[in-house]
Amino acid sequence: MIDGAKTGRIDLEDVRIAFGGNGHTVEAVQRFSLTTRPGEFVALLGPSGCGKSTVLNAVAGFVRPLEGQVLVDGEPVARPGADRGMVFQQHSLFPWKTVVENVEFGLKMRGVGRTERNSAARTYLHLVGLGGFENAYPAQLSGGMQQRVGIARVLVNRPRVMLMDEPFAALDAQTRLTMQELLLAVWQEVRTTVLFVTHDIDEALFLSDRVAVMTARPGRLRDVVDVPLPSTTRSRRTRSNAHSHSESVGQSSVSCSPNSASATPNSARFPFATAETRSSASSLPVEKKFHRAVDRC
Ligand code: ADP
Repeated sequence: MIDGAKTGRIDLEDVRIAFGGNGHTVEAVQRFSLTTRPGEFVALLGPSGCGKSTVLNAVAGFVRPLEGQVLVDGEPVARPGADRGMVFQQHSLFPWKTVVENVEFGLKMRGVGRTERNSAARTYLHLVGLGGFENAYPAQLSGGMQQRVGIARVLVNRPRVMLMDEPFAALDAQTRLTMQELLLAVWQEVRTTVLFVTHDIDEALFLSDRVAVMTARPGRLRDVVDVPLPSTTRSRRTRSNAHSHSESVGQSSVSCSPNSASATPNSARFPFATAETRSSASSLPVEKKFHRAVDRC
């Protein structure tokens, strides 16, 4: 484990967020309360437009609640900060900077010295399976690899919380599965609190410790569902299956080959691992509860 941080508790207390003015107001989120434990992986699940991103943006400090409060480790969120890193659906990398320069950027802005920041950036690039791509430019990478850089760029700041807004939604189906497995493996290492927005029940089930299901707009908390399959079990199953195909599990099951700029999805090499892991998660009674909760949204 890279960082055994015990920080990252998020408290959303009776949050109301509305947009607009001049007589036209969109009530995005109302009476929304949710608490995450430090190091927990929580998915925010709900139909499109129900306010998931708005909740995430409130934790990031991009929008201010009209009522209620947002706390991270007991401190009110007043503005964006590197302690709450965001991974967006579309990557937001600097196209003129190399991969390692992109990852270093936040540390550079905070005055971290060249050697230290370069070493940290390389560590996190290696963690997301991009060792060997440090000097590539974003345009030379596949969509999945660009998202890996985005994850490394957040994690290098050792955030209390990683906020992820449908980060894999724009990827093709197979790359998406690979990225979910990668994220689970990376999270096992860093144990940063993750708040992950999705409208995909399978994705929420596979990744999360708990799933917060929202109603349709104005978004309220419908239900919070525990996923009764520990993340270690999900990960171990994936890895043990990967093991039968590969000698080195952790990195190779998620890494890209520097010789293959197209970054062939590794799940293509481990399709049964994915299928088995997913079917174990999806056959849980809890999935029925999700469907009922989402149907009622
Ligand atoms: P979701 O992430 O669940 O798809 P959002 O949080 O993006 O939903 O949006 C919730 C509602 O708030 C939508 O009706 C959306 O149009 C509205 N909304 C979000 N951001 C803004 C904004 N900056 N200005 C006006 N309306 C917004």
